[in-house]
Amino acid sequence: LNRRLAGFGTTIFAEMSALAVRTGSINLGQGFPDTDGPEEIREAAVRALRDGRGNQYPPGPGVPELRTAIADHQQRRYGLTTDPDTEVLVTAGATEAIAAALLALLEPGDEVIAFEPFYDSYAACIAMAGGVRVPLTLRAPDFRPDLDALRDAITPRTRLLLLNSPHNPTGMVLTREELTAIAQLAVEHDLLVVTDEVYEHLVFEGEHIPLISLPGMRERTVSISSAGKTFSYTGWKVGWVVAAAPLVAAVRTAKQYLTYVSAGPFQYAVAEALRLPDTYFEDFRSDLRRKRDLLGEGLRAAGFEVHRPQGTYFITTDITPFGEKDAYAFCRALPERCGVVAIPNSVFYDDPDAGRSQVRFTFCKKDDVLHEAVGRLRRLA
Ligand code: PMP
Ligand code: GLN
Repeated sequence: LNRRLAGFGTTIFAEMSALAVRTGSINLGQGFPDTDGPEEIREAAVRALRDGRGNQYPPGPGVPELRTAIADHQQRRYGLTTDPDTEVLVTAGATEAIAAALLALLEPGDEVIAFEPFYDSYAACIAMAGGVRVPLTLRAPDFRPDLDALRDAITPRTRLLLLNSPHNPTGMVLTREELTAIAQLAVEHDLLVVTDEVYEHLVFEGEHIPLISLPGMRERTVSISSAGKTFSYTGWKVGWVVAAAPLVAAVRTAKQYLTYVSAGPFQYAVAEALRLPDTYFEDFRSDLRRKRDLLGEGLRAAGFEVHRPQGTYFITTDITPFGEKDAYAFCRALPERCGVVAIPNSVFYDDPDAGRSQVRFTFCKKDDVLHEAVGRLRRLA
C-alpha cells in the first residue's frame, strides 16, 4: 500500500458489518435498509434487464432517460433548471462521484476544508488526489459549524470546500443562514464546493436547501446525490453529479478512467424512481422520522445521551453516562455484551478528543428490529 493510502486499511463499515455477521448481532452500524425500496422500481430493473436496455455499455455520462429524470427532479423539487446533456453525470454511487470530483479538481498540495466527523471516504479520496485535508470540528451537542473558524481556515492554498448536509454521522442539517455564509466565503475566495447531499430527502426539521441554488454558487458547486438512500436500493450503486457544464466535463474525465460507465439496467429503474409521486418521498420521510423518534427514545431509556438528528437515518449518541469514553472499544465489545452493532464516530475525526465517546446507530430498520435492539441495549444499564 502506498503512503497516500497508509492507515486507510478496511472501512469501519465493512469491519462492523462483518462483526455483526460473525456474532449474529442486530446490525445498527452500516447504513442500509433491511427492507428493499418500491416493488415497481425493482420491476423496472427486471424489465430493463429482460428487454436488453443497458446490458451493453451505456453512454458514459449515463443513459439519457436517467439524466433527464435527474434534471426534472431538480426542477420539480427545487425549481432549478439543469441541462441533462451537459450538467448531469451518472456515477457508480455517490462514492464514485466524490472520488471523481476530487481527482478531477484538485492539484497536489491543494487544501480541502471539510467538517469533521467526515464520512469515511472523504479523507481517503482527498489523500488519493494528493490534497491536504483541513478539518473543522463540529462539536456536540448540536454540531453547528463554526463559521468564524471556517473563515480563519481559508488560506491561499485552499481550493475546495467539501460539504455534507444532511450530515453523516451527526444528522446536522445546514440552515439557509449557514449555507448563505458559506456561499459568500466561497465566492469571496473563489473556492469550489463539492456538496454531498445524498440524504436530501431525509430532513425531518426544516428543509433541504441545495447549495447550488444560492447566489454565486451555480458555477462553483458540484452537487452529489444517490439513489441508494432515497429509494432504499443501496446495492444498485447509482449516484450522480449535477454541476455547471465545465465542472461536469472535468468530473466526467476522471470518471471515464475509474469505471468508464456505470451499470446500465439500474439506471432505467432509477429514472422511473425519480418520477414517483410526491407522496412516495413524503411517506419515506415521515416513516423514517417516526423511526428516528422510536430509536431515539429507546436509546435514551437505555441510558445513552442522545443527539437528536435533524436529518439522515443516523443517531449520534454519547456513552459517557455509562462511565465509558472509548467509542471504538465500546463498539467492539457491544456484540458480546448485548448482541447489537454500532459505529464509533471517533474514526471520523482527526481530532482524537472530539468524538472519542460518540457512537452512531442507524434507524433504517424494521420497527420490530429497532424494538428488539433497544430491549437488548437496556441490558447495558
Ligand atoms: N456520502 C454519504 C454522506 C453517505 O452516507 C454515503 C453512504 N451511502 C455515501 C456518500 C455513499 O453513497 P453511495 O452508496 O451512493 O456510494
Ligand atoms: N453510507 C453508509 C453509512 O454511513 C455506509 C456505506 C459504506 O459502507 N460505504 O453507514
